[in-house]
Amino acid sequence: MIRYHGVAASRGIAVGPAHLTEIRVSVAERRILRHDREAELARLEAACDAAEQQLDRLRRQLSGVPGRTGLEIIDLHRLIIRSPELAGEARRLINDECFAAEWAVTRALEQIRATFARLDDPYFRERSSDFDAAADRLLRVLIGLPELRPEANAPHGAVAVGVDLGPLDLFHLRRSGIEGIVGESGGPTSHAAIIARAFGMPYVVGARGATAKVRPGATIIVDGSRGEVIVDPDDATLRDYRARAGAESERQRRMSATRDLASVTTDGVPIHLGANVESLAGVSAAAAAGAESIGLFRTEFLYLERPDLPSEQEQFEDAVAALRAAQGLPITFRTLDVGADKLPLSVTIPPGPNPALGIRSTRFSLQRPDILRRQLRALYRASASGPLRFMFPLVSGLDELKRLRAVCDDVRGELGAERTAHDGTAALGVMIETPSAALTADHLARRCDFLSVGTNDLIQYTFAADRENGDVAHLHQPLHPAVLRTLKALVETARAAGVPISICGDMAGDPFLTWILVGLGFRELSMDRDRIPLVKAIVRGSSVEEAEALVREALAMEEETEIAELLRNRLEGRFADVIDGFIPRPAAA
Ligand code: PEP
Ligand code: MG
Repeated sequence: MIRYHGVAASRGIAVGPAHLTEIRVSVAERRILRHDREAELARLEAACDAAEQQLDRLRRQLSGVPGRTGLEIIDLHRLIIRSPELAGEARRLINDECFAAEWAVTRALEQIRATFARLDDPYFRERSSDFDAAADRLLRVLIGLPELRPEANAPHGAVAVGVDLGPLDLFHLRRSGIEGIVGESGGPTSHAAIIARAFGMPYVVGARGATAKVRPGATIIVDGSRGEVIVDPDDATLRDYRARAGAESERQRRMSATRDLASVTTDGVPIHLGANVESLAGVSAAAAAGAESIGLFRTEFLYLERPDLPSEQEQFEDAVAALRAAQGLPITFRTLDVGADKLPLSVTIPPGPNPALGIRSTRFSLQRPDILRRQLRALYRASASGPLRFMFPLVSGLDELKRLRAVCDDVRGELGAERTAHDGTAALGVMIETPSAALTADHLARRCDFLSVGTNDLIQYTFAADRENGDVAHLHQPLHPAVLRTLKALVETARAAGVPISICGDMAGDPFLTWILVGLGFRELSMDRDRIPLVKAIVRGSSVEEAEALVREALAMEEETEIAELLRNRLEGRFADVIDGFIPRPAAA
């Protein structure tokens, strides 16, 4: 039995056979006759060509952004395949030792691994994984195996174990019947984690070294509430987790019985609870879970998994279908938030060294007004069918907002001239996700109808810690004074401007943080739908007065750990069942 302590990214418990998304090929020794050496060298050469073609195809698909699975990795693998250490050494072994090509590549790789293992610096030692991956691609071609895809041959009900999974991988894994996921890297607020939560799939990130240790098919438990992964559990552990999984679904059933109860504090203050959704299917599920609105519709997921851009008509129909499914609940559609880890096949984003700080989101929309206009036209047309708001992500400041508003004005004018039905008064809101937007929220508030805080990005940019990078997950600190002060100032600014403010980042759906948010003055929260009953339970059991008193104490503290401890002391006795699994454990630096 091996235990990994990672970081909880999506709650719930799954038990199943392990499915490795990155299985390495293993090759037996084989030699050739001396006079077959030329043919074998030609076979190796053809395999290098074919592996390069695969990489070129991938490169075209990834259309321009370096990063997680980006171009720089593809280019590196191309270099590795042709390197003197891999292809060069394999050629020598074929020539001098009469090795078959796949055996020669395997032996060359072993030598490379041995060289890396002797390095002192752990960073450089870990770089050998690129040689592994590139050699694996070459070996697969030589043996005639298909190119590796994370979801290929996944048994139904399995737990996927991978190194670095992106949001699209999650869609594929889900489709192939995977029930839980373990990742070596990635962060709890990464988009892959958001998708895992939308699908209700338990997900643990930061389980370092798991892919090297786990055998395919081994029984594996993933506990996405505690951030634990257990491989080859003994009977008693298995029984224990099955019982915990049962208790967890019973708890969820109990909580969801509050669906029709109002979200009001004991001193009579309503706290509006909305849902975040990524797809049409999520809308009806959110309404069924008791959401009072769709506070964030992440529209980019309609764009991701396709080779072409969705047409205006398609987006219009999708939005109208969502409004129908919402049964009168207002939907806040966020305009396209692509870039960084969310990259549609159909768009090209200029490469840059750091995608999260590059062309992303609104910056992309302003560079491609054709795509933005098409989306705005579709959504304005849909606004004639139900209550709809627009929301702009990752706005850096007033200039961008003015430019976005100008496109909206133009689109409305165009629709008016065409006599196409639309709601010209649909509200326009701004997401506060960057320190620059937070510090100029008064200027933004004067020129929009509402503000919504995207705490996932706001924290990422406040701490300069990439939310996709597990190595800096410990810097994702929602209770840090820097975050609390920013949120406090935002509430005050919005109040002074008379503009509503909500939170739609992950903080909103964490019941451990509800007192903080309510105490700071937030009255509208939007979250994953399965969090609604939990947050509602806290709201209904607490008064604004006590939440405000707690926040006063918290704001006088200097360290996140102190504030977490204060919260734990106040909440644990009263809401143990609700906050179980949400109390932060200090993440290792
Ligand atoms: C956020 O950043 O908090 C947010 C809600 O947007 P996303 O997670 O989609 O970037
Ligand atoms: Mg964001």
